[in-house]
Amino acid sequence: MATDIVHYIDGERRKAKSGRSSPVFNPATGQQSGTVHLASLADVNEAVASSVKAAEVWAETTPLRRSRIIARFLRIAEDNIDALATIISAEHGKVFSDAKGEVQRGLEVVEFATGAPQLLKGEVSEDVGTKIDSYAVRQPLGVVAGITPFNFPAMVPMWMFPVALACGNAFILKPSERDPSASLMIADWLTEAGLPKGVFNVVQGDKEAVDALLRHPDIAAISFVGSTPIARYIYETAATTGKRCQALGGAKNHMIVMPDADIDQAVDGLMGAAYGSAGERCMAVSVAVPVGEETANALMEKLVPKVRALKIGPGTDPEAEMGPLVTKAHLDKVKGYIDAGVAEGAKLVVDGRDFRMQGYEDGYFVGGTLFDNVTPDMKIYKEEIFGPVLSVVRAKDYDSAAKMINEHEFGNGTAIFTRNGEAAREFAHRIKVGMVGINVPIPIPMAFHSFGGWKASLFGDHHMHGPEGIRFYTKLKTITTRWPTGMAEGAEFAIPNMK
Ligand code: NAD
Repeated sequence: MATDIVHYIDGERRKAKSGRSSPVFNPATGQQSGTVHLASLADVNEAVASSVKAAEVWAETTPLRRSRIIARFLRIAEDNIDALATIISAEHGKVFSDAKGEVQRGLEVVEFATGAPQLLKGEVSEDVGTKIDSYAVRQPLGVVAGITPFNFPAMVPMWMFPVALACGNAFILKPSERDPSASLMIADWLTEAGLPKGVFNVVQGDKEAVDALLRHPDIAAISFVGSTPIARYIYETAATTGKRCQALGGAKNHMIVMPDADIDQAVDGLMGAAYGSAGERCMAVSVAVPVGEETANALMEKLVPKVRALKIGPGTDPEAEMGPLVTKAHLDKVKGYIDAGVAEGAKLVVDGRDFRMQGYEDGYFVGGTLFDNVTPDMKIYKEEIFGPVLSVVRAKDYDSAAKMINEHEFGNGTAIFTRNGEAAREFAHRIKVGMVGINVPIPIPMAFHSFGGWKASLFGDHHMHGPEGIRFYTKLKTITTRWPTGMAEGAEFAIPNMK
């Protein structure tokens, strides 16, 4: 039976006023598992009104008290991690171990946010003038909203709300309508941890909900993660409505394999990074760039049998390395890209289009796919596929490989595999990409660093979580003080100069 997936407003689950809804599917079976309510303007207004009230009290709650509530949430989540991973796997399709891994990575940000009192420490300068001191503090923005993608229904919201709450803001989450249930479990746990009602609200929905959030005058900032066209739209619209905005977009991550690389290590790195989570990761490696024909041949020799041997299955199969894609529409899109690659003349070495999962014939499965001899003018090179499709682009030397990466529209993540420290340093220094791995295929920064790409992979000034997250969710105030009183020296009409 399909369950109703509703909003979470003012500490309780609430049905949509709009009457609109959308089906949610189990990608392994193709069966409808839920019905998500879709917010209208009235639903969003209700959530924002609740958040505005809650934000006033929350901002006056000391950072230490806030951090204790966040720490209680962390303990509840850690004790129930399997329950959340099960929900994620059932709606997203990723294998259980991967779903659990995503929650663990998200909880690292929660752990980071428990340091609120330390993170919010300001700056003090004594004696900026005679008996004059200055200090700077970071204060909350008020009500902030997060709009998140389907591919990390727990981790991406956790990039945002723990830091936003630690900084004293109220947070409204608009999760992906394709796998919305994780958001409700998170909301329940926050309430159980003692978070006052209204400090964390969830509105389910689609474009209508997003537009209502973007235009609402009481929302101070928008955090977005999703595809590049929507990220650009969010950023541009937020600018016209005067909101602070960070909008993370799509990716096309390259991995250079140098002639001196450990090929086995590079192949293992590629397998996990290209096919893990069926390629539905913004940090997935979708382009391998072996340098020199010999490297390319050695790489392909070891890669091809491994791609053919990928263990594919439903998320519930503990042996499975890769699950189905998220929806039928996405499955068709990914297959369309494979057709386009063939039509453009790339060499299709492993073809996943005809893969059928026994017992799950209606599921959205596609096999691991590998193209060789891909060139930068091809659509499968230029565009993000977001599926288990790896393109091999053979480069004649390091310079042409690096140039290709620098000229690509996206700049989220990249990696180089080499034993040469000088080449690695040169790569780290010059490459125009936000997150770089040296013999690390998926260089996702830890919670106490910040996550974000360059070029069309991020619109805005701030990356997420870590020190950048604190800056994004606070505004700076600088106070200049003079004590004691009784020091009148007469009015001064020139701009103040400290003596
Ligand atoms: P998406 O852009 O389709 O959706 C993201 C969010 O935007 C969802 O909440 C959705 O409801 C909303 N949305 C969709 N269409 C909209 C519209 N026309 N107007 C307003 N809002 C709209 O992305 P997705 O398919 O859910 O996620 C996959 C994408 O996210 C990929 O491109 C992936 O690279 C990207 N992603 C990026 C990062 C990163 O850190 N850069 C991380 C994860 C995912």
